[in-house]
Amino acid sequence: MHLSQVQSNLVYKKMSDINNLRNKMDAVTLEMINLLKTRTDIAKEIGEIKKNIGKGVTDEEREDNLRGKIIQVSKEIGLDETLASKFLNFLLNESIKVQSENKQTHLSIFLKAKSLEQKGKKIIHMEVGEPDFLPPEIVKKSLTEVFEKGFMKYGQAKGMPVFREALAKYVSKKFNVEVTNENIIVSPGARFLIFSAISTLLNPGDEMIVIEPSWPAYKDCALNAGIKVRTINTTLEEKWEPSIERIKNAINTNTKMIVLNYPNNPTGKILPEKLQDIIIEVAKENNLYVLSDEIYSQYAKTNWKSILSYNYEKSIVTQSFSKSHAMTGFRIGYGIASKQVIEKIVKLEALCLTNVSEPIQYVAMKALDADTTNNSKIIQKRLDKLSKKAKELGLEFIIPDGAMYIFAKINQEGFDGVEFANNSLEKGLAVAPGEGFGNYKNFIRISACQDEKTLMEGMHILGNMMRDS
Ligand code: PMP
Repeated sequence: MHLSQVQSNLVYKKMSDINNLRNKMDAVTLEMINLLKTRTDIAKEIGEIKKNIGKGVTDEEREDNLRGKIIQVSKEIGLDETLASKFLNFLLNESIKVQSENKQTHLSIFLKAKSLEQKGKKIIHMEVGEPDFLPPEIVKKSLTEVFEKGFMKYGQAKGMPVFREALAKYVSKKFNVEVTNENIIVSPGARFLIFSAISTLLNPGDEMIVIEPSWPAYKDCALNAGIKVRTINTTLEEKWEPSIERIKNAINTNTKMIVLNYPNNPTGKILPEKLQDIIIEVAKENNLYVLSDEIYSQYAKTNWKSILSYNYEKSIVTQSFSKSHAMTGFRIGYGIASKQVIEKIVKLEALCLTNVSEPIQYVAMKALDADTTNNSKIIQKRLDKLSKKAKELGLEFIIPDGAMYIFAKINQEGFDGVEFANNSLEKGLAVAPGEGFGNYKNFIRISACQDEKTLMEGMHILGNMMRDS
């Protein structure tokens, strides 16, 4: 036989080996798909039962238990633990998705309230966090100026240089830190920045720590990007302060980020400085990104310290004009981070938006000159009044240190916030069910975004409902 004939026979044999192995691999993959179907069906069944008995979707203890078993088996069979955990995270997220369908949050109650209003029903809105007052006067004037100033074109994805320059100065002065325009990224509201940061800095299978109760979008953004959320529950009894031990226990090689939001939505909590210092220390030790959503800093009543003051290169701070300047509909916010982090985040903004609307950036830049201290005073006064009334009604809560909400427990046997929020709509009051913020079935969130008289009317309806139930 010629040498080339020998070679060709060898290649033929090897190809046949590859084909055999590929057939085996296909069979394994198909088996996994069948098993995935079985697993998803079981998850759905569990979801139905959880819904019926009013149990929340997330069960950290149960997940941890399974995680432990998987790590053990991985060790025994010689499979990389990180890979096994990532695969488990994918499966857990799929279960959460099927069990979270039709979850009721403040947004679903808001939409229901809106459709009832269209039918002529009067509703008092204490479910949304949207200031009822107008943006600063300068905003109106700048809107008419935009045309002649020429801010109307495509621009840099990071934001207009002149605006970023102004923001850098504003942030440096306000928070007593040193940042430059290279540390600023403009976004259409803080929400998109949070989405972009989570989606670009983390990879599918990675883990992110969220302290609950929390604004639901952090979890939703993570789920959308295939990232597993590790929930740290806090309680009213513990004054909404997270346990460092629990945070440490939740960290493993896949953990890449921790999310903080103080002053907090929905509890109004600001962490004691010492506790916040320790959390940042733990984040640094474990090389975690710290995504600190500080959009309620304008409404901090007591001592509050921005995460910027730690000078940590892996922190991303989000800010917004929505609450501080009552500019929700303008959709404008910004982030502060290291140049390297911004370079990563901006890629998604460029891909999705090209740039944030130039006229709106101009208007927001002008709004930086406005004095917004009166906004804080108004909200503070309302929160004081709401707190007094809520106490009279026997609600259990901590007096908010900031933000625009009271997160209150209604201590009645079998109380269900979702049911209560739906029933109260019929009585002309919209409140947010606690379940939208985590496993807090017997809580509701009341927001201070109406004038005092309207808020008291709302509390009157609430009191009547509590008495009648
Ligand atoms: N973060 C928190 C904690 C919020 O409550 C909200 C809105 N309610 C946002 C971010 C979103 O803000 P923006 O309007 O700037 O997107």
